Amino acid sequence: MAEKKTKGQKLAEEILMNPKSLTERGQGFLDEASKFCEGYKEFLGYKTEREAVQYVIPILKKNKYTEYDSKKKYKAGDKFYMVNRDKDIIMCTKGKKPVSEGIRVSVAHLDSPRLDFKPHPLYEDAELAFFKTHYYGGIKKYQWTTVPMSIRGVVMKKNGEKVTIRIGEEEDEPSFLITDLLVHLARDQMQKTASKVVEGEQLNLLIGSWPYDDEKVAKKVKLAIMAILNEKYGITEGDLESAELCAVPAFKARDMGFDRSMIAGYGQDDSSCAYAAFMAEIDTKNPEYTTMTIFADKEETGSDGVTGMASYFFRDFVEDLAQAEGAEVRHVMRKSLCLSADVGAAFDPNYGEVWESNNTTYANYGPILAKYDGGGGKYSTNDASAELVAYVQGILRDADVQWQMGELGKIDVGGGGTIASYISLNNIDTIDIGVPVFCMHAPVEVAAKADEYMLYKAVYAVYNSKKPKEI
Ligand code: MN
Ligand code: MN
Repeated sequence: MAEKKTKGQKLAEEILMNPKSLTERGQGFLDEASKFCEGYKEFLGYKTEREAVQYVIPILKKNKYTEYDSKKKYKAGDKFYMVNRDKDIIMCTKGKKPVSEGIRVSVAHLDSPRLDFKPHPLYEDAELAFFKTHYYGGIKKYQWTTVPMSIRGVVMKKNGEKVTIRIGEEEDEPSFLITDLLVHLARDQMQKTASKVVEGEQLNLLIGSWPYDDEKVAKKVKLAIMAILNEKYGITEGDLESAELCAVPAFKARDMGFDRSMIAGYGQDDSSCAYAAFMAEIDTKNPEYTTMTIFADKEETGSDGVTGMASYFFRDFVEDLAQAEGAEVRHVMRKSLCLSADVGAAFDPNYGEVWESNNTTYANYGPILAKYDGGGGKYSTNDASAELVAYVQGILRDADVQWQMGELGKIDVGGGGTIASYISLNNIDTIDIGVPVFCMHAPVEVAAKADEYMLYKAVYAVYNSKKPKEI
């Protein structure tokens, strides 16, 4: 027989927080999450914004989405999408209410830290051929050496033809690598601070070593490699000037742990949030408020440029929807709600000193709802209001969605931003939510399946809630 609870125990249950792990939901919950994550692992194979946009279009079509037409009148339940320059995509389900009542937005970014190629990438040194890279996003540079890499992107030829390149991912394809110094000769290197152990100009991708057979040619290995590229893709060295090529880790996403409770893979910041929002968007059939799921580009470099969330492409699109219904974009924005879906940090006991124990977020405790991020004295952040946090929490609670709140780490150890600041510029109430991940921005990141699945449920709950936002 269970012991009777004391007065204090009862009171504690009533008025103190009692954080619960998703593991308390049992093996059945992990099984459900694992099933959900099969599609997620496949999604992680599309490692750049261009690839991910291309990947989702046929899935959207299969789910009755049509390409957005500003002249068409959409009715409740209609689904449509708009692509911005092959790098962003906005997906919508028309709600029963007019857009002047507000829309439910979520934004996740598709770009992840990687090694972009410089305008003149190909060179030969010591009879070896390399591609010179310029790292994209915030990385610990030393992590990117001795990791098998694949190359992807597009090359524009002089005749206007666009060549898509994706090589190094499949087992029968060649792979590429950034070298590191052998430990035997690394006495000086090992004395350097981590930011200097490997420097930006040393992140050169080894791509060949066999020379072109002609005594009269000066750079034989360079010519031999360019000849292979010319034969395979029909491109010349000059075409690389305008190309957008990059190297990304060649690992496939896979289950992690004996219990298969986690996923290891490249680019989970922010494909974990993108996939969860994408599935919630597809599964939302007849919402009260119009939903808008955005895959964004350029988050890792500050959201600038025509495909970043600081661009007007988002506002222009909302304006098109507003005008079609005789509404003003500013009135739509004011009534709307946005989930800035981006990952947070999972507590790692191996580096526990950077977290403050009362405000730490953990793997398997559900998506992180972040009131603010930024750094230092709460600089550079959207700080969601008490009213907004409570409103979103209410929706999640009603849908049995579990969340956790905290901060990225201790106040002065670092910081980070999301697109929330750029969205809220539009006068939209915005809050961050995302999966906790281990080793963020490393070539391979780790996330818990249960958190990914719960994030899907969270976005779905917000999209399908009928509760008006009275803020
Ligand atoms: Mn991110
Ligand atoms: Mn990031």
